[in-house]
Amino acid sequence: MPSNLPTTLRTQPQDLFPSTPGIYALILQIDVPNTIQIGRLGSHTFSAGAYLYLGSARGPGGISARVRRHLRDASQKQRHWHIDWLWEIARPTGVIWSHASNTRECKWAKILNPFSSREPFKFGASDCRCEGHLLRLKSPAELRYALTALRGSSTNEVHLLHLEHPLEKTG
Ligand SMILES: [Zn+2]
Repeated sequence: MPSNLPTTLRTQPQDLFPSTPGIYALILQIDVPNTIQIGRLGSHTFSAGAYLYLGSARGPGGISARVRRHLRDASQKQRHWHIDWLWEIARPTGVIWSHASNTRECKWAKILNPFSSREPFKFGASDCRCEGHLLRLKSPAELRYALTALRGSSTNEVHLLHLEHPLEKTG
């Protein structure tokens, strides 16, 4: 396992996430404003701040397989999905997830609308009608309200895991 994976994943590799289908949101941090190319979406200037990237996992291995793949790609800088281009400037700081077999991330995108803006347009949302599945939180503090809103709207439990980064200063 690459050593630049978040500590949480290196020290507790098993059972952090369920292998059932569900919706997830990767919590991302961009530290300084940056302009990068996002595949065919073109180049975009990202403000510094906290972002949520929404997705749903229904394949083999469910939420666990998908989230792990994202986090592995984040450390290896692979480029398959729009999100993979973003790893050049963003780092994952947490994961929100919930069991759901028939619901898509588009539902979470609607619920989180009041707390966020969509940028860039259609990021991660090539095959649905959403404006995008990358949400920029109006401030990092909005994460609390976003989580409360998701919990209030879900019949299943909504989980949050903070990822620890070895290089992140905590004091
Ligand atoms: Zn959508």
